[in-house]
Amino acid sequence: MDSLSNHAAPTPLRELLRRRLLQRRAALAVILEDVLARKDRTAVLEALGLRRPGVRPEQTLCEAIKQVEQRRILLVSDFERYCRCNVCGAALDSAALEQAAWADRCAMHSAA
Ligand SMILES: [Zn+2]
Repeated sequence: MDSLSNHAAPTPLRELLRRRLLQRRAALAVILEDVLARKDRTAVLEALGLRRPGVRPEQTLCEAIKQVEQRRILLVSDFERYCRCNVCGAALDSAALEQAAWADRCAMHSAA
């Protein structure tokens, strides 16, 4: 336990981000269950920005869950990198991270 706690001491911000990621993953998992049960979740996916024309919703959701999981691992393993844009390395806005802990790109690169 001691060697672990030295590595990445949890701060209130990290703990908040970790909780947000877990909540996001749980929410996506519920939507995935609904989709697999053939319920129409088009509007929900649209609202989350997860609707991609020509891609099956279960695939989009699986990818989104995987991405959230990668962010959760990065949050613990490399907080410095977690806080930077995947594309250009610019520091991500901490208020934006609190809103969307799974975001891995700066404002300039987040438009897909
Ligand atoms: Zn960027």
